[in-house]
Amino acid sequence: MLPKKNPRSGFFRFLIGFVSQPIFGIGAILLILLLMVWRGLNPLPGTNSIYLATSTLSIVVDYTPLSTPERTEPPAATQTPEPSPDITPSPTNWFGVPFTIGYSVEGRPLEVYQFGNGPKERLIVAGIHGGYEWNTVVLAEELISYIMEDPNVIPPEVTLYILKNMNPDGYAKAWDATGRANANGVDLNRNFDAEWLVDWNRDVCFNRVYVTAGPEPGSEPETQAIMSFITSHEIEAMIIYHSAGLGIFPGGSPPGPKSQMLAYYISGITPYAYPPKDIGCVYSGAMANWAALQGVPSVDIELSTHGDTDLSINSQVLEFFVKPELNLAP
Ligand SMILES: [Zn+2]
Repeated sequence: MLPKKNPRSGFFRFLIGFVSQPIFGIGAILLILLLMVWRGLNPLPGTNSIYLATSTLSIVVDYTPLSTPERTEPPAATQTPEPSPDITPSPTNWFGVPFTIGYSVEGRPLEVYQFGNGPKERLIVAGIHGGYEWNTVVLAEELISYIMEDPNVIPPEVTLYILKNMNPDGYAKAWDATGRANANGVDLNRNFDAEWLVDWNRDVCFNRVYVTAGPEPGSEPETQAIMSFITSHEIEAMIIYHSAGLGIFPGGSPPGPKSQMLAYYISGITPYAYPPKDIGCVYSGAMANWAALQGVPSVDIELSTHGDTDLSINSQVLEFFVKPELNLAP
């Protein structure tokens, strides 16, 4: 009977036989090379190089770990820049820098330029009739440049605000009668809450393009923005620029005494007519009349034409208008 065969005895015999062979050295070297390749493919985590040593050779395998590229997160839409703590605004940083008081129907900003920081606040508004009276906007830009070239025009007791374009949508639409209304077809100077009417006698008023007064007083965003600005400030006097050729209209219905004095004084230093030309139009919903109801003396000034800015005339109006001692008592 044959002894039970040990299942491992065959392997041991093979191993003993193998190591006793002359090619043992070749087998050992193959084994070391296989180990090196395996370590290279399976590096130790966190190591950049694998140091392999045998009694006969040492190899440093450079290894650059595959890394996930840094993800660049897109900036969040609401991200607010950190304020820089060491920028201290100087008193003149805001001089001539516009701020936005609202937006037009089509989303254009209504920008007010502030000059000076005194307690006596004055306001100039241009562009209420958009592209039809584009020269009033250009005049406002020229007056802004005039002040920036000589900031001393503004006395320290005074703050002057200039809303340079109250109807930017009409201004952007066309520089003719079709640019008079805002983007809703509303004549902004018929939209204020002052003897507002849904319709009026168009035979004797502007009628080159059909415009409305809006569905109700103060319906338009441009109207709302300037109403809010005026009622949240202590405006002592306001000039609203128009064109063309009819003269100076005092605010109020009937005209307020202080508005009349403002018109009277300005007529004394300009060629503009006062009393204005009467074309028979009854101006419902007018901004100057609304301002007078708020106690703000106001005038509409009509430039000579639809194309000239009359800068030399209106720089004189500006210098008069910002006098601290502007006394409009009759
Ligand atoms: Zn006008």
